Amino acid sequence: MTDYIIVGAGPAGCVLANRLSENPANSVLLLEAGGKDWHPYIHMPAGFAKMTKGIASWGWSTVPQRNMKDRVFWYTQAKVVGGGSSINAQIYTRGNARDYDAWEKEEGLAGWGYRDVLPYFKRAENNQRYANDFHGDQGPLGVSNPIAPLPICEAYFRAGQEMGIPFNPDFNGAAQEGVGYYQLTQKDARRSSASVAYLKPIRARKNLTVRTDVLVTRIVVEKGRAIGVELVDRPGGEKKILHAEREVIVSSGAIGSPKLLMQSGIGPADHLKSVGVTPVHDLPGVGSNMQDHLDLFVIAECTGDHTYDNYAKLHRTAWAGL
Ligand SMILES: Cc1cc2nc3c(=O)[nH]c(=O)nc-3n(C[C@H](O)[C@H](O)[C@H](O)COP(=O)(O)OP(=O)(O)OC[C@H]3O[C@@H](n4cnc5c(N)ncnc54)[C@H](O)[C@@H]3O)c2cc1C
Repeated sequence: MTDYIIVGAGPAGCVLANRLSENPANSVLLLEAGGKDWHPYIHMPAGFAKMTKGIASWGWSTVPQRNMKDRVFWYTQAKVVGGGSSINAQIYTRGNARDYDAWEKEEGLAGWGYRDVLPYFKRAENNQRYANDFHGDQGPLGVSNPIAPLPICEAYFRAGQEMGIPFNPDFNGAAQEGVGYYQLTQKDARRSSASVAYLKPIRARKNLTVRTDVLVTRIVVEKGRAIGVELVDRPGGEKKILHAEREVIVSSGAIGSPKLLMQSGIGPADHLKSVGVTPVHDLPGVGSNMQDHLDLFVIAECTGDHTYDNYAKLHRTAWAGL
């Protein structure tokens, strides 16, 4: 019997699997719908350009967006060990400190103010450049500056400063405003995903089992308590039930977590009934209040050969790869 079942091996699931299995008395089962993170593009930082085109993702798109002339957008969400950290742009950003403070002060989320979460960020980090009030260098997650910046970046920063925008060497430090280099979740020029940082070093732990290609279809609730999960472990296969002695942890992502909760009857009861799901726990907030950011690109033509664009030619890509 397993003590903890964790659904979803994204960053949240990988970190929890690592921390919970630190205690050899706990048995931990980590379930992931996607496969292993074997693909070489995952580990090569520049492979990101290919990731958003569908490798290791669910293949979802949005409903037509009524404020954008009903356009339908690709909505990339990871389906692989490491979750988003295996396919994302590797920008090391914590967001704005004031957002955390607003969660605490305006929404009443005790313990989520920036001063409360900062020690956890520091504990996670193996920052190759900073060790100070905002950064740690002893954690598992590799964080570093870009290793091959181009002169055009410096020209852009100078132009920003000429317009009065300050140069900022650290967007996760005292202030977020300014122009400068992002730090990246990379170590020694390789992606430092949650899988690489939190699972790889503990492969030998006997009390942690990681199962891939397992789709959890429902959380099993008995007498108001989550006691296990229902899953399918091969396409077209029969549903099986696994029991958790202590806890079921839902770390299935911004879309996957509410989806799984709602499939399990946890969510707004009236809505669940209207789509044929029997409610087991009326929880109105589930499946709403999503906040996300759009990516906007400004594309400009350069006066010469100043960017990485040149490497889009096959022979130069091969050379850069070597
Ligand atoms: C294209 C892209 C670019 C991004 N760029 C950046 C960036 O540069 N910097 C940054 O900080 N953040 C970035 N992000 C966001 C970041 O990756 C996410 O915030 C982070 O991965 C969320 O972690 P998570 O563990 O909550 O969920 P996820 O990473 O979404 O992981 C959830 C996991 O659960 C699995 N799962 C879901 N449902 C089930 C189920 N029913 N059964 C079994 N398994 C299931 C999924 O397959 C997935 O692997 C980006 C995200 C994307 C998609």
